[in-house]
Amino acid sequence: MSHTWTHVPGVTLLGDAAHLMPPLGAGANLAMLEGAELAEAIATGPGDLNEAIHAFEEQMWGRASRWAKITTAGLERLVSPDPAEALALFDQVQPS
Ligand SMILES: Cc1cc2nc3c(=O)[nH]c(=O)nc-3n(C[C@H](O)[C@H](O)[C@H](O)COP(=O)(O)OP(=O)(O)OC[C@H]3O[C@@H](n4cnc5c(N)ncnc54)[C@H](O)[C@@H]3O)c2cc1C
Repeated sequence: MSHTWTHVPGVTLLGDAAHLMPPLGAGANLAMLEGAELAEAIATGPGDLNEAIHAFEEQMWGRASRWAKITTAGLERLVSPDPAEALALFDQVQPS
């Protein structure tokens, strides 16, 4: 589920390019939050720019992985032929 990559100095991804997921209310919010966090990491992070960007990536990957699970469960509920079984999927994932 989780999409990660080996850090490449001087470049990174965020938003859908980093973690495309079902369109259930998370993607644009994550992209905007990540843009702000990346700017903050560059402006105020540790002295080494690549360390700051890599720390940003680690934080983004963990959160995006959790939201990918939540939105995938939501999509499965929306399209499931068995509503009772689909509803139980929401007990398996919790936002954090
Ligand atoms: C039907 C639907 C409903 C959604 N509803 C919600 C919602 O309610 N809430 C929510 O938070 N999210 C929602 N999303 C998800 C949200 O739209 C995306 O997660 C968000 O737009 C991602 O932003 P982004 O900047 O990463 O990518 P994008 O918005 O895709 O922006 C990428 C931009 O790069 C441009 N581009 C691509 N290639 C190049 C190139 N080679 N050179 C220059 N420019 C290029 C594209 O034209 C585009 O403008 C929904 C998505 C869909 C499809």
